[in-house]
Amino acid sequence: MIKRSFSENATQALLPEQEKQVKLSESDLAKIKREPCDICDIDLDECHTAAMAFQSATVDLHLGLVASPVGKRMFSAKRLVVFRRDGIRAAGILMREGVSRGHAPTVELLSLGAKNPTRHPSDLLPYLPKFRQFFAKLPTEVAEMDFKILKIPLGDVDAVTDKTVKFRGPMPLLHVKKGIDDSAQIRLDDLPKHREEQASLAEGKIANMCVSWDQPQWDEVDWSRIKELMTRDLLEYRKQEAVKAQQAHCVACPNFVKHFSMRHDEWLIQENIIQLRQLMSDQNLQLLPDYEQRIAVLKDLGFIGQNSRVELKGKVACEIHSADELVLTELILENVLADFEPEEIVALLSAFVFQEKTDAVPTLTPHLETGKDTIIAISEKVNAFQTQHQVILSSDDSNNFVSRPRFGLVEVVYEWARGMSFNRITDLTDVLEGTIVRVITRLDETCREVKNAARIIGDPELFAKMQTAQELIKRDITAVASLYM
Ligand SMILES: [Zn+2]
Repeated sequence: MIKRSFSENATQALLPEQEKQVKLSESDLAKIKREPCDICDIDLDECHTAAMAFQSATVDLHLGLVASPVGKRMFSAKRLVVFRRDGIRAAGILMREGVSRGHAPTVELLSLGAKNPTRHPSDLLPYLPKFRQFFAKLPTEVAEMDFKILKIPLGDVDAVTDKTVKFRGPMPLLHVKKGIDDSAQIRLDDLPKHREEQASLAEGKIANMCVSWDQPQWDEVDWSRIKELMTRDLLEYRKQEAVKAQQAHCVACPNFVKHFSMRHDEWLIQENIIQLRQLMSDQNLQLLPDYEQRIAVLKDLGFIGQNSRVELKGKVACEIHSADELVLTELILENVLADFEPEEIVALLSAFVFQEKTDAVPTLTPHLETGKDTIIAISEKVNAFQTQHQVILSSDDSNNFVSRPRFGLVEVVYEWARGMSFNRITDLTDVLEGTIVRVITRLDETCREVKNAARIIGDPELFAKMQTAQELIKRDITAVASLYM
């Protein structure tokens, strides 16, 4: 339904309705176009692109870290962190080590933000040393700080610093945590017994810390201390983007913050247009008579909003190109994969990239059978929406998991991921060796896409599992692959 490879459609004409929706976004774009500027015209766009890349690398980094025991320790209690809430930058002190478990994990922190925070264009800037000078000032009086205990999604954490805030005695504030649910916030000054801690915090020179962003306590912790392989590559990439953003000429513009935020608004709308095009691209390919119905399915499934804005689900779907994006997106967002180990996940994902006849009936563990049933149930749900809206499904529509042989390589991939040699896994099936290699190679791409989806939804467990899954299947397959590719 959403084209896997949309590059081939790029030159094709858009359908009238789709054109209309894109036009609407484009007229928004014209309205907010950034004013011309001699300095920013040089490289503001590149600076902004690098800034966005740096920010998503930061999310990847945090997600990757909290999923590892060493990394998790860096999110230690009493550590000073910077976060964004409703897009407004603020500082806080971590209340406990690590993150909450679950689909969209949070960190628990004591907010040192302003009592009545307002948005500032600088909140859009990435957390980089050269940009800190532009940041909106933090409240400097304890009386101005909101001192709330908040649960902040990990994806909204801007930076973890090296600074640990000293309290008198053990972590007394931890007691506050008991009895609050996800949405509740407790104001420290509402709790008489915590007045002392508040005074202690004030005494701990918190207010002084907030005088200027230039002070060293706001420096990000030195992540290079973490020696894990995955982190090293990511840190290198993130550093390069940081250099690109900070070395740009536009940073010298006297209106840099204003121009950056104008560029950001422009970019948001451009992104929406790109995603809309992506979500709808295969309609062009087939020049479908049931265009409206397909849009209705996307809306019913929550991929796009009523006003044609691409929703979280749609953004996840845009990451998926190697497999059926509707079914796989549902599978990810229904948190089905949380119950499975990396080797099981990658085995189940093989159903998305394999559909060939095989006479061998794979032997699946009961747990894998459950996964198979769930995938079939989800694909039936998606198909039901399509039937309801009378979408015409062509014979090669890919989300048919019931009547097509799709689970034929689940056992093979499962055993491969668990370390069985290539010679032995070929005995498990009658599928050609070359096909097995191609499926495994393609699965690496699918794993990478699911990992990107995990970043978008902010799920460190899934992120880490996909990382592991990739490592499990990559095992000397390249050597085997060279014989078949
Ligand atoms: Zn400028």
